[in-house]
Amino acid sequence: MGIGKPRSGMRSRMTPAIVDQVDVHALVFPTPEPESDGTLTWDHTGVVVVEVHAGDHTGLGWTYTSPAAAELVRSVLAPQVVGQNPASPSRLWERMRRACRDLGTRGIVMAAISAVDIALWDVRGKSLGLPITELWGTHRESVPVYGSGGFTSMSLDQLDAQVDEWLAVGCPAVKIKIGENAGHDVARDRVRVARVVTRVRGAAQVMVDADGAYSRGQALRVGQDLDILGVTWFEEPVSGEDMRGLAQLRGVLGLDVAAGEHIAEVSDARSMCDAVDCVQLDVTRCGGFTGWRRCAAYARAAHVPVSANCAPALHLPLGMADDHLRHVEWFSDHVAVEAQLLEGAPVVRDGRLTASRPAAPGHGYRLKDVSRFAVDGASTGQGTVRSLDEQRLRRLSDCGER
Ligand SMILES: [Mg+2]
Repeated sequence: MGIGKPRSGMRSRMTPAIVDQVDVHALVFPTPEPESDGTLTWDHTGVVVVEVHAGDHTGLGWTYTSPAAAELVRSVLAPQVVGQNPASPSRLWERMRRACRDLGTRGIVMAAISAVDIALWDVRGKSLGLPITELWGTHRESVPVYGSGGFTSMSLDQLDAQVDEWLAVGCPAVKIKIGENAGHDVARDRVRVARVVTRVRGAAQVMVDADGAYSRGQALRVGQDLDILGVTWFEEPVSGEDMRGLAQLRGVLGLDVAAGEHIAEVSDARSMCDAVDCVQLDVTRCGGFTGWRRCAAYARAAHVPVSANCAPALHLPLGMADDHLRHVEWFSDHVAVEAQLLEGAPVVRDGRLTASRPAAPGHGYRLKDVSRFAVDGASTGQGTVRSLDEQRLRRLSDCGER
């Protein structure tokens, strides 16, 4: 057998598989038109996909982030898992995090770790022939969602149409973006929220997300108006980094104050639980299934409900295994991406997210042909890391020692 060749054909079934190879792909999915929230405008969604090969099984993971994370997976994280036994994803999670100590372990670094961790859990489930929800224990077969999108860049007619779509599939709540133009167009924020409240006619709760656009004083005044309108959720009324501001608003407003979508570490979750009514966690940013479950366990201990931020397909198995999860965000951009990315993407029925393949081993999703969304490999780090032997050979070659 040549160095670096997949070993699956030679391995006895009694011998534990090791991770033979890690593939990483950087993808970009254009949005139909430019979209905005209170503090950002974008025209695409970046996705970094990781495939972990171990013996006869391939695990799939992904994160929503810049293609730059692909290079981090290829050069820093893959060497930590290739050649290792994937039976304990949390052990490999620790290896990856330790390797990133001097890079910082938040932001794009933890997003990259998240993608690899998700792929490792998928391999774990497949190697046992079990859905990952059964590894963790299944509490329920479906999870409540809320419709989410309502970008500030939408016309009022577009907003109406999107709200109607969410109501048609039974969403018990809908969320729109406010804080337009970094909080400089509060009058239009009020018009849009009032329009949605009128549109749903009590059939769904109305939630808003300011993405940190307001100052503390602005957020207080807007929040008082939202209370009068009957809005139930005020997300990132101020920056998610302003714990004191969030805590002050929580203390005086009637609606729920929520934040946490950028949490990367358990210590971040601990701080956020002291400041909000409901902490948000994003499995693609807080360390994959391993990191998410650690953060969620802290929130449970602190008696703070958890809501899942975006990435509905990945939050479904977590919500099935953890009845402490209040709801999953059915975010329009990610719903569109997951339909193009995955075979077996989940569906919403009667306002609840439901698995398309509940008995499938692993998380149950398979990668579609997404080559048309791939970004140029040379500039994004798209590529493959094979066995440790091949890496060692390459290093020796690079050093002229071969
Ligand atoms: Mg948000």
